[in-house]
Amino acid sequence: MFATWRIGRIFGVPTELHWSFVLVPLAILFYAYQPGFGLRWTQVQWWSGITLLLFFFVLIHELGHALTARARGIRAEKIILFPLGGGALIPDEPERTRDQVLIYAAGPLANLLVAALALLVLVGQPNGAMLIRYYLDQSSNLVVMPALAERLLGITLAVNVVLALGNLLPAYPLDGGRILRALLKRGLSDRAATVITTVMGITIGAGLIAVSYFLGDPLLGISSLFIIAFSAVELNRGWQRRRLTRSVMEEVLRPSAAGRIYVTDRVSRARAAFALTDATVLPVYNNYNELSGFVEKEVLQREGHRDHPVRYYYEAEFITARPTDNLLELTERIVEANVYGAAIYDGGEIVGFVFTEDVIRLLDRSRRRFYKRFRSPASP
Ligand SMILES: [Zn+2]
Repeated sequence: MFATWRIGRIFGVPTELHWSFVLVPLAILFYAYQPGFGLRWTQVQWWSGITLLLFFFVLIHELGHALTARARGIRAEKIILFPLGGGALIPDEPERTRDQVLIYAAGPLANLLVAALALLVLVGQPNGAMLIRYYLDQSSNLVVMPALAERLLGITLAVNVVLALGNLLPAYPLDGGRILRALLKRGLSDRAATVITTVMGITIGAGLIAVSYFLGDPLLGISSLFIIAFSAVELNRGWQRRRLTRSVMEEVLRPSAAGRIYVTDRVSRARAAFALTDATVLPVYNNYNELSGFVEKEVLQREGHRDHPVRYYYEAEFITARPTDNLLELTERIVEANVYGAAIYDGGEIVGFVFTEDVIRLLDRSRRRFYKRFRSPASP
C-alpha cells in the first residue's frame, strides 16, 4: 500500500514516487483513446508531456511546504509524489500557530508565484492577451492558433492557479483545511477544530464528486474520494484518541497466564497454549522465567514446524510500562515501536500485558455502544 521508489534528494529533501505511478501510463492511454479512431499517438505524446509538467508543479508545491518547514527549524522527513498530487511529510507538527499557517500556506503560495511568472511572460507573447481572454471566457472564439510556447505558458498559468485555489479549500486534509484547523485551535479545543475541518472535508468532498460528475472528470472524482477518506480517518482517529484518554489500563490488561510458553518449547506445545485462550499473541519466557518477547498464533500456524522450538518464531522486541501509565500514550508507544504489545511491570513483577489487539477490541466495543446510543434515542 505504501511502497515507494526513492528518486533522489531535491534541495536536500528525500523525494519518493508512490507505486500507483504505474497507473499514469494507463490513464494517458485512456485519455488518448478515441472510439472509432483508436489510439492517437500525438495525444499520447502531448499528455505525457503535460503529465511531466504537472508533476513538476506538484513538486514545487511540496517543496514550498518542506523548505518553509526547514526554514522554521522543523524537520521535513520526505516528499511523496502520488499520481493525483503529493505530500510533504512533516512528522512533528509545529507548536506555534504562525509556523503551522506559514508551512501549510507555502505550497499554494509557491504555485501562485509560478502562475504570476507565467502570466507575466504570457502577456508579452504575440497571442498572449487573446489566450488569457479565451481562458477567462471559453465562449469567446479563439481565432488564431497559439504557438506551442504560448499554449504551455497558458497551461502553466491554469494548472498552478487550480493547484493553489484547490488546495486552499477549507477542507481537511487540504492545506486550506489545515490552516483553518490551526486557526480554530486558538479559540477551540483540538477536538472541536478537528471535527469541524474533517466534517467540512467530507461535505466539500461530496460536493466535488457531484461537480466531477457534471464535468465528466473521473480524476477529480477520485481526488474527492481521497479527501473524504482522509477526513473520515482523521475524524475517527480523534474519536479514538478521546476514547483512550478516558480509559484506564485495567480495561485492556491481560493478566499473565498460568501456562507459560518458553523459548525452548516446541511449536506443538505453544499451539496447545493458544488453544486455551482467545489471545492471538502470547508472551514467551526464557529458562530463567524472564520475559523474552511475544509470539503470534498466526505465525506459528503459518510457518511453524511442530517439532521446532518457539525461539525460531517469536519477536524479541517489546516495551514496558507501569499500571498507572496513560493508555493513549502507551498505545502510541506500542504503535511507534511497531511491537505486539507492552509488558506491565509493578514493583519489578509483571502484572500483565497490553496488546494492540485488545486496544482495538476496546475501541470496537465502545463504537458499537456509541452507534446503539444513536439508534435508540429514547435510552439514556
Ligand atoms: Zn499542500
